Amino acid sequence: MDKDSDMERLMNETKLKYYDLEEIKNKFSQYGPREPYSISDNEYRLFTAALSCLPKNIVDKVNDEVQFVLLSYEDNSAQKNVNQACYIDLKRSIPEDKKAIIVLSPLIFRWQNKRGILHEIAHHILGSWDYSNFEDIAIKEREVEAKVNEWMKDRFGK
Ligand SMILES: [Zn+2]
Repeated sequence: MDKDSDMERLMNETKLKYYDLEEIKNKFSQYGPREPYSISDNEYRLFTAALSCLPKNIVDKVNDEVQFVLLSYEDNSAQKNVNQACYIDLKRSIPEDKKAIIVLSPLIFRWQNKRGILHEIAHHILGSWDYSNFEDIAIKEREVEAKVNEWMKDRFGK
């Protein structure tokens, strides 16, 4: 086995397991920067970069089951109509098969917190949201963080 074919094999495995950024952008285009009222280009880049860390089956599950509500930070963006707040008609504007809502506040975009996005997705994937006490919160939060670590390690090897 020479080095080049090893590299090629690795790239093919990655292609099988993960969507590339363009595929993610196509799948989540409903959240893309468009007039009026959306997050900015930079913020959409962070959002899709986070999703691209996840294996395909998780991306598809998230796309099917989670409605995101994205609130922009960039008040100085070239886009004037970024989201400050939003109204959602639960019955008519969210598809029936959605099971959860993840709200990303302007702080997640301000701090470029890709892990924070993955953290909330891990809550959905692990079904951990119903806490019985403070100790339970700590346990479940640790499980969620472990899941994020696992995804990052699988994707980037660290
Ligand atoms: Zn949490």
